[in-house]
Amino acid sequence: MTREGTGKFFCLAGIGGHVSGMIESTKAGKVIVAIDGCPVACAKKTLEHAGFNVDEYVEITSMGIEKNYNLNPLTSDVEKVSQYLSTRISKRMGLL
Ligand code: SF4
Repeated sequence: MTREGTGKFFCLAGIGGHVSGMIESTKAGKVIVAIDGCPVACAKKTLEHAGFNVDEYVEITSMGIEKNYNLNPLTSDVEKVSQYLSTRISKRMGLL
């Protein structure tokens, strides 16, 4: 989504650390999205801990994408999540 210009990713550690620049940049976002790799929900919890409401959320194992540690995500999995969120965001913004 960042590559396509439909989103912008932020450093979750910076948000969790309440780094002011990161917090301000995130506040400027129109739609706050959290993508988690498993039900532990670290991204969602980190954003909420920093005071953000998560507008759109996806926990990818619920989409049938298995958690692994190989740091080599399948392009098809990335596209699946990206497409899902792009559609959700477009609907939210009245573009669909
Ligand atoms: S994969 Fe699960 S445990 Fe690991 S950072 Fe993501 S949500 Fe947290």
